[in-house]
Amino acid sequence: MMHRPIQATILTQNLRDNLRLAKNICRQSSSWAVVKANAYGHTIEAALQGFSESEGLALLELESAGLARKLRWQKKILLLEGIFSIADLDEVLRLHCDHVIHHEEQITHLLSWFKKQSADRQAEFLEHCSIWLKLNSGMNRLGFKSAAYGVAFEVLKNMGCTVHHLTHFANADDETKFPSVQSQWDVFTKATQFFAGLRSAANSAAILHHPQTHADFIRPGIMLYGASPSGIYQDIASVGLKAGMTLRSKIIAIQDLQVGEQVGYGSQFTATKNTKIAVIACGYADGYPRHAPNGTPVWIGSRSHLTDGGLAFTAGRVSMDMMTVDVSHLPFAELGSPVELWGELLPIDKVAYSAGTVGYELMCAVAPRVHVSIV
Ligand SMILES: *Cc1c(COP(=O)(O)O)cnc(C)c1O
Repeated sequence: MMHRPIQATILTQNLRDNLRLAKNICRQSSSWAVVKANAYGHTIEAALQGFSESEGLALLELESAGLARKLRWQKKILLLEGIFSIADLDEVLRLHCDHVIHHEEQITHLLSWFKKQSADRQAEFLEHCSIWLKLNSGMNRLGFKSAAYGVAFEVLKNMGCTVHHLTHFANADDETKFPSVQSQWDVFTKATQFFAGLRSAANSAAILHHPQTHADFIRPGIMLYGASPSGIYQDIASVGLKAGMTLRSKIIAIQDLQVGEQVGYGSQFTATKNTKIAVIACGYADGYPRHAPNGTPVWIGSRSHLTDGGLAFTAGRVSMDMMTVDVSHLPFAELGSPVELWGELLPIDKVAYSAGTVGYELMCAVAPRVHVSIV
C-alpha cells in the first residue's frame, strides 16, 4: 500500500546538536529540555533520543511524564504548571517528578495530601520530588508576587521540602518591551536573595541574548527544535541551529491556467499570465496554516532529488487536504515531485512569518493524521 505522501520526519541528531549548542552557550548551567506539547510536535519518543544528555525534561501533563518513565527516562522531570488536583500528587510521587508551585491552592493541596501519607511515602516524596517555587517577576501569568513569595517558601521549607526558585520572562526576544529581562531578573534576584536553592529563569531567547540570566538550570524549548524565539529567521540565522522536523509531501496534480483563470476555494488567485500550478497533498487538516496568504514559500524538488529544486510560492487558498503553488518558473516540477513545506531546506520561521504566526504554532499543530517517522 502506498500511503498519502505527506510525512513529518523528526531528526533526532539535529535535536541532539541543538541541545549541545544550548549547553555550550551556558556551560555553568544544567538544563531542563522543554518537551511540553508533545515536544513541540516532535513526539516524546524522539525527544528522549534527542535530549538524552539533558539533566531533565520539563513538561505539563502527568501522562507525558508517565510516558517518559515508561520509555525509561530515569533523570529528572519537571511539571511546569505543577499539580492541578490533590490526586495528582500520588502520580507526582509515583513518577518522581519535580513540580512547580505557582499558587496558594497548590500548597494547600500539598499540605493536606502530605499529612495523610505514611512516613515512608512522606520520606520518599521529600527525597524525590523537589519543588520549584515560581515567582511572578512581571509577566503576570503564573507565580507568587515578591511579597507573598517568602511566606510560601517558608511554609514549604517547614514541611521539609527541597525548594528551588523559578521565574519566566515575558520579553526575552524583544528589547523594546517592558517588563525588560533585566527588570524581571532584578525582581527575581531580590526576592530570592536570602533563600537557599537553585535558580531557573532562561527560556531560549534568554539563553541566546541574556547571559546574566542563565543561572543553575536553563529551560530551552523552541531553540532545541531549530526555530527562532522571536519568530524571525534572521535572528537565529548565524546561531547554527538545525531543523528538528521536516514536513514533506508530493505534487499530486499539475494544472495549466490561462490568463484570467482562477484556482481554489474563493478564487483567491487569478492568473495574470499562463501559469503552471502544482497541487500538493498537504492542507489545513495536516496542520498547514489555512491563513497562509498567496506568496507563502514552498520548496519544490525535482522528481528524483528534493535538494536540487527551488522555491515556489502558494497561489490560492489552502484547503483541507491540498494546497496550490505557482511553479511556472520550475520546469522540473511535475507529478510526483517531492516538496518540503518546512524543514532543512526551508526554515519553518520563513513559512510562519509569511502566515503571520511563529514556528512554535506550526510545529505544535502538525495533525495526528500526518505520519511521523523518527530518524
Ligand atoms: C515553554 C516554556 C519554556 C520554553 O520556552 P521557549 O521560548 O520555547 O524556549 C520555558 N519555561 C517555561 C515555564 C515554559 O512554559
